[in-house]
Amino acid sequence: MTKKLHIIGGGMAGSEAAWQAANMGVHVVIHEMRPKVETFAHRTGNLGEMVCSNSFRSDDDEQNAVGLLHWEMRAANGLIMHTADQHRLPAGGALAVDRDPFAETVTAALRAHPNIEIEHGEIAALPDDGHWIVATGPLTSEGLGADIAAATGRDALAFFDAIAPIVYADSIDMNVAWMQSRYDKGETEDEQRAYLNCPMTRDQYEAFIDALLASEKTEFHEGETAQYFDGCLPIEVMAERGRETLRHGPMKPVGLTNAHDPETKPYAVVQLRRDNALGTLFNIVGFQTKMKYGAQTDVFRRIPGLEEARFARLGGIHRNTFINSPTLLDNQMRLRSRPHIRFAGQITGVEGYVESAAMGLLAGRMAAAEILGQTLPPPPQDSAMGALIHHITGGAEAKSFQPMNVNFGLFRPVEGLKGGRRGRKDRYKAYTDRAKAAWSDWLAQQGSVPVSA
Ligand SMILES: Cc1cc2nc3c(=O)[nH]c(=O)nc-3n(C[C@H](O)[C@H](O)[C@H](O)COP(=O)(O)OP(=O)(O)OC[C@H]3O[C@@H](n4cnc5c(N)ncnc54)[C@H](O)[C@@H]3O)c2cc1C
Repeated sequence: MTKKLHIIGGGMAGSEAAWQAANMGVHVVIHEMRPKVETFAHRTGNLGEMVCSNSFRSDDDEQNAVGLLHWEMRAANGLIMHTADQHRLPAGGALAVDRDPFAETVTAALRAHPNIEIEHGEIAALPDDGHWIVATGPLTSEGLGADIAAATGRDALAFFDAIAPIVYADSIDMNVAWMQSRYDKGETEDEQRAYLNCPMTRDQYEAFIDALLASEKTEFHEGETAQYFDGCLPIEVMAERGRETLRHGPMKPVGLTNAHDPETKPYAVVQLRRDNALGTLFNIVGFQTKMKYGAQTDVFRRIPGLEEARFARLGGIHRNTFINSPTLLDNQMRLRSRPHIRFAGQITGVEGYVESAAMGLLAGRMAAAEILGQTLPPPPQDSAMGALIHHITGGAEAKSFQPMNVNFGLFRPVEGLKGGRRGRKDRYKAYTDRAKAAWSDWLAQQGSVPVSA
């Protein structure tokens, strides 16, 4: 009897997973609830529908991590990337896509594949047996969401993301900032120095609050609710409640001594916490926000020590169903408690069309290899694919886990290269060269010749 792979959700991840597995010779069934059951963001019953912007972001595979992910997916004969290339629109260095023909072509390619069946209908519970990939995305249906929560524990499944901005460690001015946990708490020296602190004078604090209140904010999409949980109020909402609220909340200056100026008590302190095991990324604690991206960079660069900050991702609050992958998934993207079920796409805690399709590509190959009794070597950590999967299944801090875009902060540093802004071009080129070699080797180990990217 042939073993089928069932995929729930025919979005970016599910479509790519199906394509990859089917090309390895596995019979695939895609279960897509649309158009029978709608979401507030999708408009059609097509597979691979882009719900909002029509951009796959930068296509620069030498200097940009998402461009590198494009390269790796093209090399792996990725359906999403090759279809995006067919329907490319002029957009400078970005890859913009003509959305309707794109989704129609993805749907037609999957329909025409001899190993793929498409069934339209909602799957409302996690299945008990068989081989499954859950790729139901940020708008996972209510019934399935409830069943996932029951299987994983309610705390391990989020329905909103409240993202604080993440800063590259090497762009923080350590002549201004210092490392210290509040009241030097912690058993080890590492714990006592776990936070990075940026001090503010009264004038700086007042100017920061003014900028925050005046900044442009984004609205919630129709169908999203604007109810904030008290634990994750946007900072601008806290500031609206009173100018001193932040100084008594995430910016309180207590229990901290400025290592550069121990005699002067800061009026307020912005704290950043390590965001990955490599120590290359820090998130600004408690700074979830609905400010527009341009406004965020303007406002956050007012923080002393962050004047030159580069952001691995900016903050946001969205409707988004995602699981706590670092605790729930193994490095094969299987649910530890039910290993016949894999997760892929945005529900695993990656963010964006490209990253979601990338995780679909890996899950599809992993599931197919398992069904075929083959051993798939682990994706190389030095590739963009490998860096991303390593982050979500183990590298990220589980406690503060929030969805992540691909970025160079997830990569192991290349030794012997100049740090800071000056060395950036050479550093990024070194990352992308190393990644391409590692990814091509990985594909070759599976007997697939990398498709010229
Ligand atoms: C409002 C909104 C705006 C966004 N804007 C952008 C943007 O501009 N750029 C960007 O890169 N990313 C954006 N995203 C994120 C984007 O949706 C994802 O990155 C990407 O689509 C995720 O791919 P996916 O395959 O994981 O999920 P999706 O592409 O959403 O696919 C999941 C599929 O599963 C189906 N499904 C859900 N539940 C079930 C079920 N129980 N049974 C069967 N089928 C089911 C859905 O109908 C859907 O087709 C946005 C998300 C939202 C919600």
